[in-house]
Amino acid sequence: MAISTRGPFLAVFLVLVLSVSTLVWLLQRRSQNPGPIARPINKPEQPVTSTSPSVVSQPSPPASPSPELTPSAPSPQVVTTVVPTPPASAEEPQPQPPATTEPGYVGKLNLIIPVSGVKPAQLHDTFTDARSEGRVHDAIDIAAPQGTPVIAAADGEIIKLFESERGGTTIYQLSTDKKLVYYYAHLQRYADGLAAGKLVHQGVIIAYVGDTGNAGAGNYHLHFSIAIVSDPSRYWEGTNINPYPLLHK
Ligand SMILES: [Zn+2]
Repeated sequence: MAISTRGPFLAVFLVLVLSVSTLVWLLQRRSQNPGPIARPINKPEQPVTSTSPSVVSQPSPPASPSPELTPSAPSPQVVTTVVPTPPASAEEPQPQPPATTEPGYVGKLNLIIPVSGVKPAQLHDTFTDARSEGRVHDAIDIAAPQGTPVIAAADGEIIKLFESERGGTTIYQLSTDKKLVYYYAHLQRYADGLAAGKLVHQGVIIAYVGDTGNAGAGNYHLHFSIAIVSDPSRYWEGTNINPYPLLHK
């Protein structure tokens, strides 16, 4: 009875062991087969990806702009490194524009104050003062008693004696290099013998301080301006420069 009971038990046990072993063997084979099967699947996938690489090659151009973006990223870095240099170069042209309005030779002028007896400390910078009709003064006013001698600020030819509504009795004098015109206004009268075409030397009396023109009655002063002229025959046209720093030495 015991054997008869052990017999079916062993048979069931052996069936179980065999079935488990066959299951393990099948699983091992399937695990091995799917591998080679997966590899041929991968191989067709590689041709598929070989077509997809063409698709990848299409995204690769956008991938090539992305490397362009990365070089462009260093290039702004180069620009940012260049940017500090432009301010330096921008600082250099900034001194240049004032140099165009006042050439280098202007600073080398050796002018004298064109009113006899006036000291540099008595001068006031009135170059940027506003005048009537929205004009800017563009000159210097040198106050002095009526009849004080007006002297030539520099050597130069008297090119015009002119009676003007605003300036009153005036003198235009051309510098010896013919680049500058000196203008004297509100004069009481000219010095004796003064005439256009006469060369006068620095310090020579050419006129006397007055209040003619629009100076205002009793407001005795010399209105003096310096203009850079491109054409000496058009002496009334030019770019006025500030006489104050040239006289206040
Ligand atoms: Zn003036």
